[in-house]
Amino acid sequence: MTLDVVALRREIHAHPETAFREVRTTARVAEVLTGLGLEPRTGSGVLERDGIVDYPDDATLDGDAERAVATGADATWVEAVRRDGAALVVDVTGSRPGPTWALRFDTDALPIVESEEAGHVPAREGFRSTFARGMHACGHDGHVAIGLGLAERLRDDPDFAGTVRFLFQPAEEGGRGARAMLAGGALEGVDRFVALHLGLDLPLGHVVGGAVGAFATTKLRARFTGVASHAAAAPQDGRNALAAAAAGTLAVLAQPRWSTTDTRVNVGTLRAGDGVNIIPAWAELTAETRALDAAVQDEMTARVTAALQGAAASYGCEVTVTPTGGSTTMESDEAVADALRGHAADLGLTAETFGPMGGSDDASLFLAEVQRHGGSGSYVMVGADNPAPHHNPAFDVDERALAHGLDLLERLVRAG
Ligand SMILES: [Zn+2]
Ligand SMILES: [Zn+2]
Repeated sequence: MTLDVVALRREIHAHPETAFREVRTTARVAEVLTGLGLEPRTGSGVLERDGIVDYPDDATLDGDAERAVATGADATWVEAVRRDGAALVVDVTGSRPGPTWALRFDTDALPIVESEEAGHVPAREGFRSTFARGMHACGHDGHVAIGLGLAERLRDDPDFAGTVRFLFQPAEEGGRGARAMLAGGALEGVDRFVALHLGLDLPLGHVVGGAVGAFATTKLRARFTGVASHAAAAPQDGRNALAAAAAGTLAVLAQPRWSTTDTRVNVGTLRAGDGVNIIPAWAELTAETRALDAAVQDEMTARVTAALQGAAASYGCEVTVTPTGGSTTMESDEAVADALRGHAADLGLTAETFGPMGGSDDASLFLAEVQRHGGSGSYVMVGADNPAPHHNPAFDVDERALAHGLDLLERLVRAG
């Protein structure tokens, strides 16, 4: 049997799940790998749930598990993933001794309603999202399919040196999954690390062997607490958390850019209040900072936190600022990036060794960890003619890119 990578991508695409809720996706991955005679692992040694901020509650995950079984996932694996968390590791061993590779495939989708336009291929071809408020709008559905296809090829022909560890990672969006897998020990003993990303506004047939200059980023959640009171009878007795959060929002957006490096700052959500005639007693916002320099990134995060605290104080409110996730800068190693470029060229693709990433990916934490221990790695970008930007309701990838990614990673591993 040969896996149909395009069909797998379409199946995953139709069932998108967001951060740490990838129950069906991970259970399906486990089922396919088990069908190949491999031994996927979840739980201990794969994911550490302690320390994950805003992990989904039991009722949510129970609902996800039910939905997963109802949509065809294997009930035993659903139960395991529901219990252990939606991260999975599987090792495929080659016929000769050699390095331990870790290849990262992220599995999560985004809380977006997918386009229904006829020009949007998943809508036209009948594999548009069937789950409410979820969409694979970053290409991770394709990553999952590539990972499964590669596992099959390496199992079918183990003529390679060393071991390839497949990391099926939850919660890349928001930068929470990689750190939880690192804390779980999923990367132990790894010498070489590669993550692949489809799209990234590159044309189909274009490959960048190694990303450089990914943003370090910190995601923050700020909870403001005030005091409710009657908006007419006693407004002076209230403490307006909405006003504090609004002032905090403007204070965050008024932070200076840096002249020494590229920086970004954003407030992405803001919710507050209970009713039109009540002084709002609560507000919550999420914000993020990014910089191409990790030290500047830390400084920006400290200033944003101070700005939020100052805004709270000015309205007599309290605020708790909690980092919920993040990632670091990324410097792919030239040897690995150039090897990928060479393999891409051999496949008839247009390739360069290095190129800017332009975003963030918490694979950077895996890469940095491997490099810290003397290993090497790269973040390879595979063009897919995405017709709309990442995280847009009309995002899609040209499915021919799946074969490009699959062939590229196979050649890299077999070349040793
Ligand atoms: Zn994304
Ligand atoms: Zn992505």
